[in-house]
Parts: sequence; structure tokens; C-alpha cells
Amino acid sequence: MDKTDPAEEIAALRAELTQFRLLANNLPAAIAYYDRQGYTCRYANLGYARMFGHTETSILGLSFARVIGAEAAREVLPRIDAVVSDKRRSSYERQLPDGDGRPRWIEVEVLPHFDAAGEVVGAFVLVYDITRHRQAELALRQSEERLAKFMLASAEGIAFHKDGAITDVNPPLLALTGYTLPELLGRQALDFVDPAERERVAAVMASGAEIGYETALTHKNGHRLPVEFIVRTLQYRDERLRMTIVRDLRDRIEARSRIDYLAHHDALTGLPNRSAFIERAQALLAAARANGRRPAMLFIDLDNFKRVNDSLGHLAGDTLLCTVARRITGTLRSGDLVARFGGDEFVVLLSGDSGGGVAEVAGKLLTAIGEPLRAGGAAISVTPSIGVALFPDHGADPDELIKHADTAMYQAKSRGRAGCCVFEPSMAAAAMAELALEGRLAQAVREREFVLHYQPQFALGDGRVLGAEALIRWLPPGRPPVQPEDFIPLAEARRLMLPIGQWVLGEALRAARRWHEGGRPLPVAVNLSTLEFGTAGFVERVQAALAEAGVPGRLLELELTERMLMDDMPAVRETLLRLKGLGVGIAVDDFGTGYTSLRHLKELPIDRLKIDRSFVQDLPGDGGAAAIVRAVIQMAQGLGMRTLAEGVETAAQHDWLRERGCDEIQGEYLAAPMADPALQAWLQADRR
Ligand code: C2E
Ligand code: MG
Ligand code: MG
Repeated sequence: MDKTDPAEEIAALRAELTQFRLLANNLPAAIAYYDRQGYTCRYANLGYARMFGHTETSILGLSFARVIGAEAAREVLPRIDAVVSDKRRSSYERQLPDGDGRPRWIEVEVLPHFDAAGEVVGAFVLVYDITRHRQAELALRQSEERLAKFMLASAEGIAFHKDGAITDVNPPLLALTGYTLPELLGRQALDFVDPAERERVAAVMASGAEIGYETALTHKNGHRLPVEFIVRTLQYRDERLRMTIVRDLRDRIEARSRIDYLAHHDALTGLPNRSAFIERAQALLAAARANGRRPAMLFIDLDNFKRVNDSLGHLAGDTLLCTVARRITGTLRSGDLVARFGGDEFVVLLSGDSGGGVAEVAGKLLTAIGEPLRAGGAAISVTPSIGVALFPDHGADPDELIKHADTAMYQAKSRGRAGCCVFEPSMAAAAMAELALEGRLAQAVREREFVLHYQPQFALGDGRVLGAEALIRWLPPGRPPVQPEDFIPLAEARRLMLPIGQWVLGEALRAARRWHEGGRPLPVAVNLSTLEFGTAGFVERVQAALAEAGVPGRLLELELTERMLMDDMPAVRETLLRLKGLGVGIAVDDFGTGYTSLRHLKELPIDRLKIDRSFVQDLPGDGGAAAIVRAVIQMAQGLGMRTLAEGVETAAQHDWLRERGCDEIQGEYLAAPMADPALQAWLQADRR
């Protein structure tokens, strides 16, 4: 055996100790050794000593309580005692009172040191700094808390599932589905998806796609719940979770179906509108074609609806339309289609066979709609005119059937209203003719194919010429002249009467100017159409026409019909007063054929009443006509208006009228309408 030199031995030990220290001081742990006796520190590495504000040497011999501080010792010493008495290692975590202001966490491991007899003689203490670990844990917990709070605060439903099994659900989703949390946790998410949707939802789940889509859940009460899913995959701890945001779509779907409803229905009556009707009619006709049925299309238009609207107001008009809609629906069978096409037009497609049934249904509709009803505080009744077109004879598609039913409806109207008319091909020809006429009329307006004829008007007392009425004539080149009664209604309906009326006014005033310049300042009477009188700026246009022709207002008289006076009383009065302000005379044409009330007449600034030709022509033999004419003359005298009898053809009529106090006459007995050159010649002759 080597005899070792003690000095060498000491040197070797020193070296070893240095190495040990190097090792111990570089370990990522703080190490110390305490005696059992008084728990005095026998060894501490640099890390341990510094942790408690000591050096490797200054710590030696200090008690455990002094090293770690009295407060910490109170907490920790019982654990050390337990290590000694139980002879078992122990570990604990604690927060270190932080010298530098930052929180620090340590994990302490205490290992008993046994002697040969197995008695505990001391304890090794290993301390690890676990601050970072703790911070990470804290961060995780905070993020968990945040998520939990978010799930609670979100108004939208949120669910988590792992591999399809539900791990968490927030209260809004519980409220939406009617379940409690325990009823859902651990269950398969797919179990709560609407059965019809499961396959698709499962496919999305399997794909792991992060998408949003519309689907449906099943409420606890079994109802289907339309929802939107927005799905995301989350890495949570070591798990891959699926998060699903669940949005209740009921409101959105309701809004959508409301919009859809509005797009397909008439807002007033709730009936389908034109586009919805045509769509359904197409399907119905296709089915009818397949099984050989012959449905009928009915076009229903209310007679004189405009009058109700004008006289009782739009509210009453609306009430009336709603009642009519209900009555139509109430008359039909469930398979029949009905729609409102706007205004006072309704269209019905009878689904059944159009044998004898149509006449019966039309009859029922006429009766039901014509029933009096209350609207706007008044009892009113309107009758419908109904046109019928049969499938497939009168049309192969809804549009054609509607068009022909419409034509038949016009026929019903012209046969005196309140009736029903079935389409006949000849009607289509008439409609075609009207269309052609409309085309030619539009051209006539452009090409100015009109002339005015003038019919003198006379004072019954002395036979003086008082003025002349301008009457329009249409002279289409290469065709016979067209009488006003044959084109004015059409021109009115197609709004062509506006440019025509404007031309008439200018032309008549130019004639008046010529007469004036020729030494006969006679007023010219101009007929107005409803269309002209009702349009905005009418008075201004009259004023401009007078100015342009250089004619004073007193040389113009405007002839209105009773219908025009009835429309909107205050507005009519206002317009007439403004015309009177220009010096223009006002006459009521065709008096006796309308329904003007006396109260109306009395309040309007009217200069004369033109007694309608239909009464005059029956004079003097017809007692009824005579009574009416006498009454009109008396009434006019009472109201301070003059009377003019139209269409006087005979001396007997002339004499009778003069004897009864009629003021003026116009008619072929004295002079027929004539072109201006002829009139001027006639006036010359008259003077002689
Ligand atoms: P109205 O204003 O009542 O015109 C009188 C009509 O009676 C004229 O028919 C005239 O030619 C006719 N007439 C005159 N004397 C006699 C007679 O002794 N016997 C018979 N059987 N008839 C007579 P016309 O010219 O065919 O005009 C018819 C209607 O057309 C007019 O009725 C008027 O309502 C309308 N009208 C004519 N010209 C115009 C116009 O320029 N503008 C507008 N808006 N309507 C016009
Ligand atoms: Mg007239
Ligand atoms: Mg007349």
C-alpha cells in the first residue's frame, strides 16, 4: 500500500473539494445539508446561500429557522419534523419572500440522511426555482378563466367537444336547446343534431374543417332548431378540442321568409301578387295538361272603384279591397289560385274542370262581391265585371289566359258591367284592332293629323252668335275621318289626350285670335278631358297658351264634364277659381248625364250648364225629357247660371226652349260644326 504523504493528501482533498464545489455550485438546484441537532446548516452551495442572502461560509452553523426566516420556518418546520420522525422524504412548494420585488416560487425537497443504524442524522435540502413553471401554469389558468368567462358572457351558444364527446357547453346554448349541463356533458354531440343533418355535421367534424354553415339542432322538446355553426379546432393543453359557436337562426329565417312573403304577396290584401300567381299557375296548368283537366282563368275588375276611392278616401278604398279579397277567397275551393294584380284587379285560376262549373263560380263571385259593405262610415256596394278564359282553348300559358280573360272582362264592362263574359276569339280581334288604332293614334299625334271644327252658339232671345265650340276631327291620311267619340276614350286611356288637348287649346285660341282680328271677338269653347284637367300645372298651361296666342282670358271658355267636378271638390274649386281669375269662362258639358249634387254646383264658379243632347232630342214630345229640361233651366236660374241646349235640330225644339227660358242653343238647326275658313265665311254672311 502506498504510504501517502499527508501534505499531498491534503492537497488532493482540496482539489477534490474544489471540484465538488464547482460541481455543486453549477447545479441548477440549490443544495444544503442540515444537522438533525438544532437543524444547523452544515453545507450550502452557492445557489442556496445566495437564495437566502448569505455566502457559502456565512450560512454555516446557522439554524434552519434563521436561514429561511421565522415566518417561513413556522410553516415549514413541521414538515422537516415529519421527515425526521417518519424517515421519509418530503417535498413542498412555497413562495419565496422576494427581495427584488418579483414573485418567486420554489419547490423544496427534503431527503432524510441515515446513519449506519438507520437513524436519521440530518437532512439534505434541494431547492428548485419553479417560478417559470408556476407562471406558465398561472397563464394557463388565467386563459382558462378568460375562456370560461367568455363562454358565460357570450350571447351565442358555445360548445366544446373532444372526438365528438361534449366537454363543455355555455349557458346560452343550454337555454337554446333546453338541456342542463349534466344532461350534455360526455354525450355525443351528434345526438343533439337534427337527424336529417347528422350526416353532414359528422362529415364536417371528420374533416376538421374550420367553417361556418347552416344546420339544425333538436331541442329537448323535440323541435327542430335552425342554427348556424362556426367551428374551430383548438389545441388545449395536450388535447385537440373542437369549439362550435352556435347561432340561433330562427329570427333570421323568419326575417328571410318575411321578405320572401313580401316579395310574393300583395301587402294590402295578403293575396299572392302577380309573379307568385304566375309561378303557381304554371305548375297548375302543367298538371292540368298531364291529366286532361281544363282550368279556367277569371279576371275580376271592380266597377267604379275609382269613384269609391275618390269620394270616400283611400282608407275606405283599402277596406273595400280587403273585403273583396276575403269574399273571393271565401267563394273559392282550396285548390284554386287567387291573386291581386294591383288596383282593383283580381285574378283567379279555378283548378277544377272548367265544364259547367265556371258559370256557377262566376255567379257566386258576382253575388258575394256585390254584397253591400261598410267602408269609411258609408254603406257601399261595388259590382265586379268578370272575364273568363278557358285552358287550353283560349291560351296555353298563364300570360295568354290572363290577357284573354282581361279582354273578356272589358267586354263584360262594355255590356253594362256587373256581369261575366267568356272570351271569344273575335274579342282578341277587337283588342288587336284597338291596339292598331292606338298605334295609328300615336302617329297622328306626332304627325298632327287633327283639325278643329267650330260650331256656333246662339242667344235664344235675339239669335245673336255668342261664340263657337271647338270640336276635334281626326283625318288619317288615306282613311275616312275618325269621330272624336271613336278615339278620345282610347286617347284618354293611353294618356295620348295630354298632347292632343294641348294642341287643341293652342289651335282654338289661334282661331279666336283670327276672329278677333277679323272684327268678331267671339269666345271659343274648348272641351277638356279628365286627364288634362287633373294634371299638375294645368292652370299655368292655360295661362301660357293665352299669352302665346295673344288672346284675353274672356275669349276662352272651358267645358268640363260633371265627372271632373266630382273628383276632389276643394281642389276642383281652387282650380276653377284660378281659371276665373284669368277671365276664362266655365261651362258644364253634357249636363244631366252625371251625378253632380246641387251642393257641389252651388259652390263652384260655373257660368253655364250645357243641357245634354239626349234630353234635347226628345223634346218637345217626351214628357220626362221636358220635365228634366225645365227643372235644369229653373235650377240654373236660381243658381245664377246660364243654360245652353245642345244638339238642337228642329224649330220645335228651338221654340220650346225659348218659351221655357233657356238662354242659349247650339245645334244643326242653326249651324253645324265647320272648319275655320267656312266659319269665317259664315260669320260674314251672318253679319249681312
Ligand atoms: P260635346 O262637347 O257635347 O260636343 C257636342 C257634340 O254634338 C259634337 O259632336 C257635335 O258635333 C254634336 N252636335 C252638334 N250639333 C248637333 C246636332 O244638332 N245633332 C247631333 N246629333 N249632334 C250635334 P262631336 O264633334 O262628335 O264631339 C263629340 C264629343 O267629343 C264632344 O261632345 C266632346 O265631348 C268630345 N270632344 C270633341 N272635341 C274634343 C276636344 O277637342 N277635346 C276633348 N277633350 N273632347 C272633345
Ligand atoms: Mg262640348
Ligand atoms: Mg255636350
